[in-house]
Amino acid sequence: MMIAHPGSEVRVLVRSRPTANFAQELIEYLPDGQTVSVHQRKDSRKGVVNNQLSSWSFRLDGVLHDVSQEEVYGRVGRGVVLGALEGYNGTVMCFGQTGAGKTYTMTGATENYKQRGIIPRALQEVFHEVEQRSDHAFSVHLSFLEIYNETLVDLLASVRGCPGVGPGGMAVVEEAGGGVSVRGLSLHPVHSEEVALNLLFEGEMNRIIGAHALNKNSSRSHCILTVHIESRSRTLSDAKYVTSKLNLVDLAGSERLGKTGSEGQVLKEAMYINKSLSFLEQAILALADRRRDHVPFRQTKLTHALKDSLGGNCNTVLVANIYGEASQIEETLSTLRFASRMKCVQMDPVVNEHTDPVLQVRKLEKEIQLLKQELSIHNTLANRMGMSYDTLSETQVAEIQSQVRRYLEGSLDEINSQGSQGTVGVVEGHGFGVGLAVPSDRHIRLLSPGRTKAIKTKELARSVDNMSDLVFLPSSSPPPKAEAFEDFKAERGSEINRILKENKVVLLERRARLRELTECVNTAKREIDSTSTALHQWRDKRQSQGQFVSAEGVPVLDEAELSLTLRLRELKTQYRQQYEELRGTKAEVSYCQHLVDQCRTRLLTEFESWYNESFLLPEEVQAMLRSGGPIRPGLVPVYKALRLRYELVADSPSAISFYNAQNRTVQRVSLTHTNTHCG
Ligand code: ADP
Ligand code: MG
Repeated sequence: MMIAHPGSEVRVLVRSRPTANFAQELIEYLPDGQTVSVHQRKDSRKGVVNNQLSSWSFRLDGVLHDVSQEEVYGRVGRGVVLGALEGYNGTVMCFGQTGAGKTYTMTGATENYKQRGIIPRALQEVFHEVEQRSDHAFSVHLSFLEIYNETLVDLLASVRGCPGVGPGGMAVVEEAGGGVSVRGLSLHPVHSEEVALNLLFEGEMNRIIGAHALNKNSSRSHCILTVHIESRSRTLSDAKYVTSKLNLVDLAGSERLGKTGSEGQVLKEAMYINKSLSFLEQAILALADRRRDHVPFRQTKLTHALKDSLGGNCNTVLVANIYGEASQIEETLSTLRFASRMKCVQMDPVVNEHTDPVLQVRKLEKEIQLLKQELSIHNTLANRMGMSYDTLSETQVAEIQSQVRRYLEGSLDEINSQGSQGTVGVVEGHGFGVGLAVPSDRHIRLLSPGRTKAIKTKELARSVDNMSDLVFLPSSSPPPKAEAFEDFKAERGSEINRILKENKVVLLERRARLRELTECVNTAKREIDSTSTALHQWRDKRQSQGQFVSAEGVPVLDEAELSLTLRLRELKTQYRQQYEELRGTKAEVSYCQHLVDQCRTRLLTEFESWYNESFLLPEEVQAMLRSGGPIRPGLVPVYKALRLRYELVADSPSAISFYNAQNRTVQRVSLTHTNTHCG
């Protein structure tokens, strides 16, 4: 609703405390609802006795005169609260002289629901919204900081379970990314409005209340209640989350020294307060001046703690609280001046978006998985089966290179290595051809019987020197998986398949028993219910007729009642036994289910690796084709069978060795050009 638009200004509203003696002739609210004019007679004490009237006009964002707490919240707080739920930092701050209504505006009358202030209403709205926005998971924490004479005080330190302040005490610390936090300030997780309000009241009680000539209850300290909000989309894949801080600030009185006859401790307080307020103003003015890149936030605890929450990239709304009485007109004037200076600050609210590294990795992994699947569909369409994309170890590469070299030189008849890399080779019935990955901007002429094809290659020579560019491709398709699975179950996987079947039988049998028992238990329960109803009815009836008593005056049971009671006892025993068995059987069922699942998984995994070993290219070799390995995207592939002859037309001398090597094996190795890229 009132989320600031980039480039807008801090919003400042003035609120006057209700009074029977409103100084109408001095304070004038213009009909535009935004402008306050103050007329002041020249002070006779300063020597000029001419009753001359001076007038000042302040144009703000709104006037809150004679308005309810509810309306104040609507005009001041709601927009900032909703912004915070979207991830914008926000600050609502009241300032003005002591007694002018800052605490009334922020906290309100804690004992009166209707007169509750912005803070309780904001907390209510936060939790209301959290409930409404079920597509996001929110976590909300509260902290309550008091700054008293430049000392930081944790107003919630007394809360049970709160960790004490660590060594070094409390301090405002800067975070990476420009934020600030208060070290040692307790953060309290809150899940409901009620818990949040309890914390607010607890903190209020702990506020240091200073006696003061003007208002005995007015606080001499600054108080910042911060609602820390984190929100994540409920869809797991979304690694982004947003955080925000909603600061609800009740500043100490802004009245100037000397006015109230302060002494001693109160004088010291007043000095600190004036200092922090004047630095607050300086910080605000520096923020307002876009040419200044240094803002003196660190000069006082107040400005430092609010560094990431004043103007700049967050929503800021200020309320200037004033008295309506003539006697306070000087302070009122000073408050309004402060207010109009504050109004100059520009805001460019920015959402605090973060990326969760764990979720991000999960998301990327998912993406890789999808891409692999897509790739494998492409491969299937391109008639390349069983590719995998894991990289090859160095030894494996070396072994393959050496075999290929020997094969090409003619010293090796078959690439069929055993031992550690014993997966490359010619499998009976599902043989591999030898292929050559050829870079793509040179020309190789491939001669197939009856036609000549020219293909572009890039750095052919390098591919020759670097034998790792040689790859294998299956030269015929593996059998369908379903068929192979049946074979596997009958042979290699027969043992595990047998165990799986046995477990399944046990599982089915246990499940049947569980159903039976459930039925029994439910029947027993129904019987217990009906018997006990009958018993009660019988007793009620007996009662209305008077209690049977023995000769000695002891109550006795009649026969029907006795038999019902015994029956009930019997049923209950039976029920307990059956229930026990039911529980045991349930556990057995889930255990058997677990065993069956395990067997099934093992059967499938063993089948997969058997299938891959038996019919498909070794994974390492497949990997070379498209990732990580020596094959780079853009290389032109690759070649089935041993039928075609080829001739190389190369314009680089380093291609000659390749040409020669290939010539030696030209009778055996031929290339069929497939036009598909590997990557
Ligand atoms: P501050 O915090 O600025 O020192 P308070 O909020 O404590 O001032 O207000 C001083 C007194 O005036 C309190 O008793 C408060 O209830 C009363 N008061 C202030 N503003 C209003 C208002 N708008 N309506 C009713 N009572 C108010
Ligand atoms: Mg106060």
